[in-house]
Amino acid sequence: MELLEIYQFGSPLLKRKTQRVGELPDHFPEFLERMYAAMYGDDGIGLSANQVGVDQHFFIADFSLHEKDMSREVFINPEILESTGIDTLEEGCLSVPEIHEKVTRAYRVKVRYENLKREVIEKEFEGFPARVIQHEIDHLNGVLFVERISPLKRSFIDSKLKKIAEKGITQTEPVTI
Ligand SMILES: [Zn+2]
Repeated sequence: MELLEIYQFGSPLLKRKTQRVGELPDHFPEFLERMYAAMYGDDGIGLSANQVGVDQHFFIADFSLHEKDMSREVFINPEILESTGIDTLEEGCLSVPEIHEKVTRAYRVKVRYENLKREVIEKEFEGFPARVIQHEIDHLNGVLFVERISPLKRSFIDSKLKKIAEKGITQTEPVTI
């Protein structure tokens, strides 16, 4: 299995809103396995399609490390219907290595998405899973967590970000599944 490369800060694909998922190829589940492998390989808990260069609106997540009764899941065409509460926690991102900053987000979100069977699900998440979902949907909309911190804090990490961008992947052509 060829390992997928995770696109880093500076890649134009991470700054673009992804396309809505239409028909999916038969080998989509195998592609997801490659995404899980890339995610676990870097100790991640969520990974959006554009982080591996795919211009489509879906992400994977594995909440089981933090929430025993939850497992891994794919969110196809996810959208947040409602957000409530406020929560501030430190975040990191596989596309922004070695940077951790506190980000304020909603504590609870109601999300509409399609699962692997393309069934439409509406579900509420709170706490840790809600945070991961908001982080990943941000990705799919071209927003990185470092854009959600104060300008002052951002100025402190600017030189680190520039270094990541210099050595990161900067392809502009999307990968096909
Ligand atoms: Zn991320």
